[in-house]
Amino acid sequence: MSEWIERESKYLFQNYGRQPIVLERGEGSRVWDSEGNEYLDFVGGLAVTSLGHSHPAVAAAAAAQAERLIHVSNLYYTTPMIELAELLVENSPLDRVFFCNSGAEAIEAAIKIARRYGHDERAGAHGIIAMNDGFHGRSLGALAATGTARYREPFEPMPGGFTHVPWNDLDALRAATDDNTVAVLMEPIQGEGGVNVPAPGYLQGVRDWCDENGLLLILDEIQSGIGRTGTFWAHEQDGIEPDIMCAAKGLAGGLPIGAVLAREELAGHLVPGDHGTTFGANPVATAAGVAVLRHIFENEVLAAARRASDRLVARLRSMEDSLPAVTEVRGRGLLLAVSLSSEAAAGVVTLCRERGLLVNNVRPDRIRLMPALIVEDDEIDRACDILEEAIRLATS
Ligand SMILES: *Cc1c(COP(=O)(O)O)cnc(C)c1O
Repeated sequence: MSEWIERESKYLFQNYGRQPIVLERGEGSRVWDSEGNEYLDFVGGLAVTSLGHSHPAVAAAAAAQAERLIHVSNLYYTTPMIELAELLVENSPLDRVFFCNSGAEAIEAAIKIARRYGHDERAGAHGIIAMNDGFHGRSLGALAATGTARYREPFEPMPGGFTHVPWNDLDALRAATDDNTVAVLMEPIQGEGGVNVPAPGYLQGVRDWCDENGLLLILDEIQSGIGRTGTFWAHEQDGIEPDIMCAAKGLAGGLPIGAVLAREELAGHLVPGDHGTTFGANPVATAAGVAVLRHIFENEVLAAARRASDRLVARLRSMEDSLPAVTEVRGRGLLLAVSLSSEAAAGVVTLCRERGLLVNNVRPDRIRLMPALIVEDDEIDRACDILEEAIRLATS
């Protein structure tokens, strides 16, 4: 294992703080490292492996498609992209889909659709209001929208036209809106910003403000979508609909993919020549996406994920009582976090890993849990036993 890590340190950019394990194999909620150690995976590839690792339906669909046809470009039609687009439209309030390869790329396309709409319909209005602590990706446009200054500042100047307002603050949103504003871009529940849930009525308030002022509401469901929060899209729980929506992470069960969905009249603003991407709608990625969505809908995976969430939340809440260092349980569905009273999260991650559990320190004082939607009861129980012990050791 250490030999691989040594070679990595010689040949790859050192821009990630990787955990010191080399993962070679996965099945369901478990992964194994190159020395045969087994881990329960409650990171899930950062909310990507929605059906667990190498789910048989996803692996079979991707393998079969790879043997038939891997890539031809968007100069031609292929069938998996059409099937996946149909599934997404039928299971969302939106009408059309554009496929790309990552979350950041989906955000870039959403920004371009909003600007094209502003150019065509709103006398060139192009301002986009996003949220403090919001996260939208690392490309320059997505980074300009991201609400964490330290991610942006080393790479300035940013593309212009973005402002940020505090989360859960409708008055700040109203005050930041002017004639130049064309859209509001936000996550329905903030993931990377620390698992921040919207206050009751907040998303409805944003929706109403957008309607009153002719603004587009762009929801970034890249992390929260595809069942992650217990419903297929997180916004369903707030009773609102977006005008434009981005998806990515869990959509193809681990293969790289991104998607933008939009209302019919907005999709119509992108005409041939306006936008594109070579790998977008790749047959293998979209075939995997079809397998993921079919499996979710045909096997009542959302209901199972909600039951798993109830069990996990109950155990985490009991830690609030038993461990003084646990101050709060946050999140919805299987996008959850535990807040600690000190900056002990990195230590907890290490102690968990040494005991066979992978979790993520989303902030210095916060542990994030994003298990597969198909996580089993005994896996939840075992993970919580390990997490409880790790928090006790790290904070005593
Ligand atoms: C991960 C994430 C992104 C960026 O996705 P990439 O595939 O890493 O570019 C954008 N928005 C949200 C909410 C995310 O969680």
